[in-house]
Amino acid sequence: MDTGPVVVVGAGQAALEATAALRAGGHTEPITLVGAETVPPYARPPLSKGFLTGRVGTDELWLRPESFFARQDVTSVLGDPVVEIDRDADRVRLASGEWIGYGTLILATGSSPRRLSVPGAGLEGVVALRSLSDAEELRCALREAGDLLVVGGGFIGLEVASVARGLGLRVTVVEAGPRLMGRSVGGTLSAHLAALHRAGGTRVLLERELVALRGERGRVQVAELNDGTRLAADVVVVGIGALPNTALAAQAGLTTGNGVVVDRWLRTSGRNVYAIGDCARFPTPHAARPVRLESVQNASDQARCVAAGLTGNRRPYTSVPWFWTEQCGVRVQMAGLTLPHDRAVVSGSAAEGRFTVFRFRDGRLVGAESVNRSADHMITRRLLADGAAGPAPDEVARPGFDIRRHLSRTG
Ligand SMILES: Cc1cc2nc3c(=O)[nH]c(=O)nc-3n(C[C@H](O)[C@H](O)[C@H](O)COP(=O)(O)OP(=O)(O)OC[C@H]3O[C@@H](n4cnc5c(N)ncnc54)[C@H](O)[C@@H]3O)c2cc1C
Repeated sequence: MDTGPVVVVGAGQAALEATAALRAGGHTEPITLVGAETVPPYARPPLSKGFLTGRVGTDELWLRPESFFARQDVTSVLGDPVVEIDRDADRVRLASGEWIGYGTLILATGSSPRRLSVPGAGLEGVVALRSLSDAEELRCALREAGDLLVVGGGFIGLEVASVARGLGLRVTVVEAGPRLMGRSVGGTLSAHLAALHRAGGTRVLLERELVALRGERGRVQVAELNDGTRLAADVVVVGIGALPNTALAAQAGLTTGNGVVVDRWLRTSGRNVYAIGDCARFPTPHAARPVRLESVQNASDQARCVAAGLTGNRRPYTSVPWFWTEQCGVRVQMAGLTLPHDRAVVSGSAAEGRFTVFRFRDGRLVGAESVNRSADHMITRRLLADGAAGPAPDEVARPGFDIRRHLSRTG
C-alpha cells in the first residue's frame, strides 16, 4: 500500500509501537515521530509502581534503546508538539513553526489527567501523575512527606497509595463513589481491594469528597472534605481519571466526542488520518457501544493493527481488552469488557487471596477479574479472542472448578 511519508503525532506507547510495527512489516517510506515531551518514548505503568520506590530506574522505562531510531531510519522530533493539522495540504505544523508533510497521519496523542477544581488545587505538593517528570516530582515528594492524601480510588491513585504505605507514609484515600475502582471492576474485587488497603494501614474514605486544600507559603498542608473532616496532607495525588487529548483533532475538523472517533479500522473521519491508543474512541465486538480504553494492551494492539493495514494486511481491530494493576502485593488482571453483565460467579477463595470473578451476559462469558490467578486470566483472554462461549455460569459455580480442565475438554 502506498502510504507516502508517515507522521505519527505523540511519542508514547502507541506511537512507538506503530513505528516499530511499520518497519517490522516492511514499510520503507519515511516515518517521523513527533512528541511533545523532551524524552524518548517510555513505559508509564512503572511510574505509579516500582519507579516510585526506586526499584525501577529511569533506564528501565525506555521502550526502545536510543539506537532504535537511527537503525530503523525513523526521524524523531521531541519537545516540539504538533499544534495544527492542515488537512487540505496534508501537513502538520509544529510549535517551532516547522511544517511536515504527510501521506498518512497517525494521531497517538494519549490522554491527560482530569484536574481538580477545588480551592487550593494549584498549591505545591498537589500532583497529577501522567509523565516521567510528574513521577520524578512525586518520588522526591514522597521521600520528604509524612501524610499522603490520594484523591480518587482508581488504578493510579490506589497504586500510589500502596507504594506510599510501603514507604511508611500515613495514607488516606478519598473516593466520591461508594466503592473503589467503581468504573472498572465489580463489587467483589472492589471490596477485596478496599480490605487489603485497610489491612495495610491505609485509611479508605468512601462517598466523601474533597472540597478544598489549604496551605502555607504556597505548599499544601490540609485537606477539607465535604463532611467537615480535615486531613493533614504534605502531598496530594490527584487520580480522578483522564481525558483524551483531542484538541488537535477537533481543531482539524475531525469528528471527536470522548476521544477521536474512529471506525473498525481505526480510521478517523479524515482522509488518511488514523487515531490509536488513549485518544481514540472505537467500535469493538467486545462492547455494545464504541469505547475508549486507557491501557498498554490497547495502545500496542491498535498500533499494530494500523501498521498491518498500512503494510498490506488490513483487518479490523478486534483485540480482547485486558489490563493489570499491582496493589498491596497483589497482582490483579482483568480480561474483557464486563460492564454490563447479568451474572458474576466467583471461583477460588477471596479469603486465601486467590480468586477470579467470571462475568456473564446472557449466559456467555464476557470477562474475568483475577487476583493472583494468572491462568484464569490468560485462558479467559483466549476464549474471548476465539469467540468461544466459555464455561457456563453453573459450571464455574461448581466446587473445584478449574478453567484449565474446561479448556482441555473443549479444545
Ligand atoms: C501512572 C500510570 C500508570 C499506568 N499503569 C498502567 C498499567 O498498569 N497497565 C496498563 O495497561 N496501563 C497503564 N497505564 C496506561 C497506559 O500507560 C496508557 O494507556 C498508554 O501509555 C497509552 O498510550 P498512548 O500512546 O495512547 O498515550 P501516551 O503513552 O500517553 O503517549 C501520548 C504522547 O503524546 C504526546 N502528545 C500529546 N499531544 C501531542 C501533540 N500535539 N504533539 C506531539 N505529542 C503530543 C504526549 O505528550 C504523550 O507523550 C498507566 C498510565 C499511567 C499514567
